[in-house]
Amino acid sequence: MADLYRGAHSRTVKVRGPATDYDCLACGVRPAAEWAYRGGDPDEMRAPSNGAVCAYSDDPSYYDPLCRPCHRFRDGHGPPDPGPGQLVLPFD
Ligand SMILES: [Zn+2]
Repeated sequence: MADLYRGAHSRTVKVRGPATDYDCLACGVRPAAEWAYRGGDPDEMRAPSNGAVCAYSDDPSYYDPLCRPCHRFRDGHGPPDPGPGQLVLPFD
């Protein structure tokens, strides 16, 4: 499963460049450290990983550049997942 996330991640980097080229979209203060899936992709994909469910998108436009603290915050306040386990974002 990690290969799927890596594929989506490298697509985003290819199209938009490394997240470190951006300021964090959430706080606007710290430089971004990683691309974070924002949610909302109608073609969103989910995959089980280590007992959790990871949501991700193949569309680079659904990723935001975030610093690590903001990414962690978003992880803890993401949309609830209907299945067992907890929703986590890829690229940790
Ligand atoms: Zn931030």
